[in-house]
Amino acid sequence: MDKASIICHGGAGHTASDQPGVDAATQRGWQILNAGGSALEAVVEAVVIMEDDPVLNAGTGGRYRADGSLQLDAAVATSDGKLGLIMAIEDTPNPIRVAADLLSEDFHILAGRGARHFADLKGHRKASVVGSKSPSATDTVGAVARDKDGNLAVASSTGGCSGRPLGRVGDTPMWGSGLWCDQNIAIAATGIGEEILKQLLCSKVAVHHHSGTSINHALSWGIDLFDKNIEIGLIAMTRDSQATAANTVMPVCNFPE
Ligand code: ASP
Repeated sequence: MDKASIICHGGAGHTASDQPGVDAATQRGWQILNAGGSALEAVVEAVVIMEDDPVLNAGTGGRYRADGSLQLDAAVATSDGKLGLIMAIEDTPNPIRVAADLLSEDFHILAGRGARHFADLKGHRKASVVGSKSPSATDTVGAVARDKDGNLAVASSTGGCSGRPLGRVGDTPMWGSGLWCDQNIAIAATGIGEEILKQLLCSKVAVHHHSGTSINHALSWGIDLFDKNIEIGLIAMTRDSQATAANTVMPVCNFPE
């Protein structure tokens, strides 16, 4: 029997001071699931809460690029095969909503000016986003959920790594690297995007799980692919279980516990 559940994270390397925004996001997602809403709706609305939290590196509070600009990435995918990836969008407080609008299109990835143009067509608010000058180098926010019908979804959003060049894209909006979702598992990654990309981390962990490894072991196996000094975190939801793993501090919250 499928049971609704949600997990949110506030980024590998973030500490307990960032926990309140993650808790609030998880509560919002759980409210939606508990009222019979979909996994997709739950992860998108949970990520919106974290994008609006100036402490977390996504939407408002995103980290500035080397040239002082703010470019944001967001991604969403569902177990029925829908995908939306937004890269390096500007002037968009909630890029996850733009990514969600891509789910019903026959194109799945938009970047830069094209992404903002699509956001305009869909009526998403255009406003300059206030970033954060916090020294933290990395962090992403993410959510995975299962609804009462057993559907899975994953959503992530990030300002990327502080001080990276204009136009830099990390793993977060890269299918198979920063996120994965199929009929049996939804996974979100956080950490140093360049390293996660090279490992195609989330798809590798999914394949490992599908070969018969428990979800907890599959996530630990994924984390162990990296040197200990490379911050990496993972959250995952399957049809009957869930897990989180990180080689550093990472605010996480799951409902029901
Ligand atoms: N993975 C993100 C990026 O490289 C940052 C993070 O999750 O810490 O853009």
